[in-house]
Amino acid sequence: MRVILDEQRCDAHGVCVDECPEVFALDDDDDVVRVLIEEPDESLREKVERAALICPKAAITIEG
Ligand code: SF4
Repeated sequence: MRVILDEQRCDAHGVCVDECPEVFALDDDDDVVRVLIEEPDESLREKVERAALICPKAAITIEG
């Protein structure tokens, strides 16, 4: 599984960080969220999928 972030869409809400802090991180001065692990372990799939689903900007895509 690969996590793809559309930086044009992301407006640093941080909802994804609440959902899956293992993969997404945000500092106060970040304009877009940071993807900590581009290819997360399968054990994180459910959390990553939930993060993608609840992102208000639909900025997260999961490949594979
Ligand atoms: S929830 Fe979506 S818009 Fe908000 S920080 Fe995460 S990827 Fe960006």
